[in-house]
Amino acid sequence: MRKKIVAGNWKMNKTFAEGITLTNEIIDGLKNSQHQCDQVILCTPFLHLQKVSELCNEEYVLHTAAQNCHTENSGAYTGEISAFMIQSVGATHVLVGHSERRMYNAENNSMLAKKVDIALANQLTVVFCCGESLEIRNAGNHIAFVNEQIESSLFHLSKEAFKNIVIAYEPIWAIGTGLTASKEQAQEMHFQIRAKLNSGYGEEIANETSILYGGSCNAQNAKELFSQPDVDGGLIGGASLKAADFLTIIQSF
Ligand code: PEP
Repeated sequence: MRKKIVAGNWKMNKTFAEGITLTNEIIDGLKNSQHQCDQVILCTPFLHLQKVSELCNEEYVLHTAAQNCHTENSGAYTGEISAFMIQSVGATHVLVGHSERRMYNAENNSMLAKKVDIALANQLTVVFCCGESLEIRNAGNHIAFVNEQIESSLFHLSKEAFKNIVIAYEPIWAIGTGLTASKEQAQEMHFQIRAKLNSGYGEEIANETSILYGGSCNAQNAKELFSQPDVDGGLIGGASLKAADFLTIIQSF
């Protein structure tokens, strides 16, 4: 059975102390509530990763992710962090291909394929982000565009390696805008992504890969989105910064 997952992407938010407070609030909330979530992933800035990973050991459902990694393990790349370094502090996951990195850091499909490879080589699970702009959707090309992102950056992987991939569908027009995809739009795309995985890897991988929705998912709309048959959870930005909202989303299955 594929996992139900809620991941919180803190982006470039929270001082170190604020991040630890938020983590402790989430841990307390999880201990004192019922939920059906298989994994909760905190995608913190690099700064917080080691301490948050230590704290997350207290709660079986919790994991940590970096928001990016470099294409190499080490070297003269000032200001960069590698997958090798990320796993050394206890993180288990990494986001690859978030639209903000594609946009502001010119990350393209072939570069992302390299990041996927180095992350997997360092035993990190990859949360691979994909999604179309509004122009592409309005032109009716959104499904072909997302399929191409997936094929270019992931389809060189073996079936075995693909077991360590989670997909996050995040329409760019919905990220941080308050515009959420409708449950029908989310389901349509998640169904198509699963069909794409089926064409590349067969039914088992297609059925076992978790596909998360991201884009203004919040405490009010998470239940409706998560009720769709091909939506296995969410990648949450803004609403992951407040423990109460994030906990409500975790309880939305
Ligand atoms: C994100 O950054 O991955 C995201 C989904 O952001 P938000 O929830 O704020 O739209």
